[in-house]
Amino acid sequence: MIFLLKKKTVNLFVTGIFFVGLSIGTYSFALHPNMNKWKNEQIVVTEVKTDRKAVALTFDDGPDPTNTPVLLDILKKHNVPATFFVTGIHSQEYPALVQRMALEDHEIGNHSYSHPDFNHKSNKFILNEIRKTNKIIYKLTGKQPVFFRPPGGYLSFDMVDLIRKEEMIIAYWTYQQDSKDWANTSASRIADHVIKNIKPGQIIILHDGCPNGLQTAKAVDTIIAKLSIQGYEFLTLSDLIKSADK
Ligand code: ZN
Repeated sequence: MIFLLKKKTVNLFVTGIFFVGLSIGTYSFALHPNMNKWKNEQIVVTEVKTDRKAVALTFDDGPDPTNTPVLLDILKKHNVPATFFVTGIHSQEYPALVQRMALEDHEIGNHSYSHPDFNHKSNKFILNEIRKTNKIIYKLTGKQPVFFRPPGGYLSFDMVDLIRKEEMIIAYWTYQQDSKDWANTSASRIADHVIKNIKPGQIIILHDGCPNGLQTAKAVDTIIAKLSIQGYEFLTLSDLIKSADK
């Protein structure tokens, strides 16, 4: 009986955490007190206003020695450029993959050095994560990254100030285009989510650096094929922003 009660309490507790987590996630994404101001200032980007049927495919957490080459082959087959948010650690581990991304005209963004939880971390720590990764990417590609995507989408006033001073832009993603592809989701479910929610100017978030990355790569093959038929084109994030309505 005691055991049963305990189990029930634990379940309630876990459910509670889940809903709190969900609401915080939604809150920080859509209703951050400063989100709209930051978007207007173009220091944070979540989508681009355009009538042109153009979107950006973005991939986080790589490069990964298994998933990334498969994904790069698929992008090459379709002649589609994407934007990769790489971590410094993985870039050091697999430099040839970062070089291949650059050679094949993909854009490379900064996704921190070690993918930490930035909550309660000092500005010095955060700045070090950003600068160290910029240096690694520059050394491998000869290009300075423009975009920073904070791990887990962490945002704070301090972080925005830091990014502003580094003359970078925080690349978020379009809320409707988070298929949670990393969560052991099948390729067809990932593709269905993206295709069903597609609208011009969206920034689609996917993950090549997660264990489910081969499903993601397979989904990308379908996404590009089906959306191309609908008249969509795929641009790097920089080019998508340049294509925005003036
Ligand atoms: Zn990440």
